[in-house]
Amino acid sequence: MTHRVVIIGAGFGGLFAARALRHAPVEVTVIDRTNHHLFQPLLYQVATGVLSEGDIAPPIREVLRNQRNARVLLGEVVDVNLDGHEVVVETVSERQRVPYDSLIVATGAAQSYFGHDEYAINAPGMKTIDDALELRGRIFGAFEMAEAEPDPTRREAWLNFVVVGAGPTGVELVGQIAELAHRGLQRNYRSIDPQSARVILVEATDKVLAMFPEPLRRRAHRDLEQLGVEVRLHTMVTGVDRAGLDIKHNDHDGRIEAYTKIWAAGVQASPLGKILAEQSGITVDRAGRVPVLPDCTLPGHPEVFVVGDLLHLDNLPGLAEVAMQSGVHSARTITRRLKGDTSQRRFRYLDLGTMATIARFRAVVFIGPWRFSGAVGWVMWLVVHLAFLTGFKNRIAAVVNWAVAFLGHDRRQRTITEQQVFARTQAGRRAEEVSPTLEDEGSPLP
Ligand SMILES: Cc1cc2nc3c(=O)[nH]c(=O)nc-3n(C[C@H](O)[C@H](O)[C@H](O)COP(=O)(O)OP(=O)(O)OC[C@H]3O[C@@H](n4cnc5c(N)ncnc54)[C@H](O)[C@@H]3O)c2cc1C
Repeated sequence: MTHRVVIIGAGFGGLFAARALRHAPVEVTVIDRTNHHLFQPLLYQVATGVLSEGDIAPPIREVLRNQRNARVLLGEVVDVNLDGHEVVVETVSERQRVPYDSLIVATGAAQSYFGHDEYAINAPGMKTIDDALELRGRIFGAFEMAEAEPDPTRREAWLNFVVVGAGPTGVELVGQIAELAHRGLQRNYRSIDPQSARVILVEATDKVLAMFPEPLRRRAHRDLEQLGVEVRLHTMVTGVDRAGLDIKHNDHDGRIEAYTKIWAAGVQASPLGKILAEQSGITVDRAGRVPVLPDCTLPGHPEVFVVGDLLHLDNLPGLAEVAMQSGVHSARTITRRLKGDTSQRRFRYLDLGTMATIARFRAVVFIGPWRFSGAVGWVMWLVVHLAFLTGFKNRIAAVVNWAVAFLGHDRRQRTITEQQVFARTQAGRRAEEVSPTLEDEGSPLP
């Protein structure tokens, strides 16, 4: 019988593993709960109207259409039976058991609210296409609400945008919102001046981009301030409601009134990690990641590989490149074993650099001892992201949209759905009063 490889998750780890198996004598089943492979590093550009969702999320079956040994199954894996060598999948119609000879688990991570999941409704995170489209609706919707709002205090609150967390995601997002407000919406409104919007970055620690070397951190901080972003360090969020955030800065309580809040602080690995760990007698780390052996296999289960954001090994960061390389490493191990080579080979991560863009012509990049910033860093960022974007047509679309946004300051993807408008208007507010589950208990309505 042909060797059956099941891959859970078609993010960077899972997709690169599947592709690396294209010439292997195996049957590959890729299971994902979405129909697309998501390029997460560009999600913030969907949220701010630069790119469309299709540009960064091609269908998995389209990506694998020429790979004859691969099939795609849409469904959520809810359990793994390590002893029985099968995974349990909830598909649209039924619960299926899918058997495997080798298993690659690449289910990534979700947003963490550090025990305050109730913040999510008023301060959504940005991990999925749904999140990015929701944020796009909230960001562009806020300008519409401000234009229609007669009360100056509320209008101001509609024009306040707060991003929580100054890691790469928070910095990229806040930079784009500042560019949008200060340059991208000129001459669009009659009652408000979008340039008067306040864009605020809130961070609990004393630095932005903590994982970057000190000179690049300082550069990013300065760039953000030049863009008009208010950077508030040493500031803890202590509460989130519909109308704003409660904060603590140097032991002083405070509040920011803002209808648009975005959570970009903290990640929690996929719950499948815990299921795998429990069955193999190990414990996940604080972020829910699975400690694996040096070849990315689960202790006691050489046929099970854990890759990408779910993997805990050598303090590797949650980066796309780690996911791709660990996925390929697992696929190559399976192929070698089928050829009779059962030696254990350590996964060695090749660091190709870390980068964050702040706005057009401004990015910070470090590759080992080399550091780049400003326009040079930005061009490097552009080239790398274009190279890794999946699909030729998506690259062309991205180049066109980038030209429109970065050369012309325009945003082409500004559609808000009727449903999103409804959620922010009188009718939406009345519906929330009738159905309080949509709203934090006791939080003031605008
Ligand atoms: C906003 C944002 C910006 C980022 N920017 C950068 C950057 O600039 N550079 C960088 O290197 N990294 C960046 N990252 C991190 C990078 O995207 C991740 O490290 C990478 O995506 C991890 O790949 P993965 O395959 O482990 O997981 P993912 O890419 O998250 O893929 C997981 C897949 O598993 C599927 N899945 C999850 N659970 C189940 C289940 N139970 N059943 C079925 N399917 C399931 C999901 O639908 C998803 O398709 C960013 C991440 C985010 C969120």
